[in-house]
Amino acid sequence: MYDLIIIGMGISGISAAIYAKRNNLNVLVLEKSAPGGLLNKINIVSNYPGVGDITGPELSYELFKQFNENKIEYKISEVLDITIENKIKKIVTKDKVYETKYVIIASGRIPRKLGLENEEKLFGKGISTCALCDGNLYKGKDIAVVGGGNSSLEETIYLAKLVNKIYLIHRKEQFTADNKLVEEVKKLDNVKIIVNSKIVKINEENGMLKSIDLNTGLNLKVSGLFEYIGYIPANNYLDKLDITNEEGYIVVNDNYETKISGIYAVGDSISKKHYQLVHAASEGAEAATNIINKIKN
Ligand SMILES: Cc1cc2nc3c(=O)[nH]c(=O)nc-3n(C[C@H](O)[C@H](O)[C@H](O)COP(=O)(O)OP(=O)(O)OC[C@H]3O[C@@H](n4cnc5c(N)ncnc54)[C@H](O)[C@@H]3O)c2cc1C
Repeated sequence: MYDLIIIGMGISGISAAIYAKRNNLNVLVLEKSAPGGLLNKINIVSNYPGVGDITGPELSYELFKQFNENKIEYKISEVLDITIENKIKKIVTKDKVYETKYVIIASGRIPRKLGLENEEKLFGKGISTCALCDGNLYKGKDIAVVGGGNSSLEETIYLAKLVNKIYLIHRKEQFTADNKLVEEVKKLDNVKIIVNSKIVKINEENGMLKSIDLNTGLNLKVSGLFEYIGYIPANNYLDKLDITNEEGYIVVNDNYETKISGIYAVGDSISKKHYQLVHAASEGAEAATNIINKIKN
């Protein structure tokens, strides 16, 4: 049996794992996709202390390097369920059930979708939520970006260097992004800002994105649509535990413990004010330290 199983290998899970392993806990990390989590999809990080400007994949690489230097056990496997028997937590994956005394859930969030017809079908065929992964496919083309927060504007700045023209569509008058980003985007010659507008229809031709219709009656011919309209927690697999709020975020106390003793949660998966790297890293360390103290005392 493990002392601790961590679900998710983004910055919060990696941070928790490093603290746990360095305090001799028998720890396993389960990750369904790739080490680094969301970082692998971020173009540039400029506000993480100590590293200056760094690309998401570079920071992800550094984290994974440190993770491996600490010889932490991990498996690429999706967690499907958590059950509890006599205080022992059973972590269910497709291939195996793992037993552990403590759990840290660090499974992050996934991009919110517009919920329009053709959207699912055209993912990877014109529609994307990752400029870093897919931006190159639209070199010299006209595209749209939807959203008004930091992610949307940061990725617009990145994409503007690659594409011919960007329509930046926001449903409100004011952007919620930092002023510095808004000013930067306004200076870009190939970005046309369209506010107070919603995308109401996604049109396809031969299985590829052809154009989008706005509620103002405008039809924009674009070969790419990058969606940055927020995120929803990836917590569906936890439904039976009843530890999430109505928006799907996990509710924790000051120690990052859920209402179930021994089950902790950190990072973007929890209900909190700030969804940033530095907070996620700190929460991972906090939760692990609280567990270490419980085991040692
Ligand atoms: C476009 C964009 C730009 C950003 N820019 C910045 C920035 O400049 N500065 C900043 O501080 N923050 C930034 N952020 C926010 C920051 O990236 C997140 O707050 C942080 O990465 C969250 O880390 P996490 O470990 O909580 O989750 P994640 O990084 O999302 O990691 C969660 C991991 O859990 C895995 N997982 C999910 N479900 C399961 C399951 N059932 N079983 C196993 N594994 C599972 C996922 O595959 C993933 O690897 C940005 C976010 C985005 C989207």
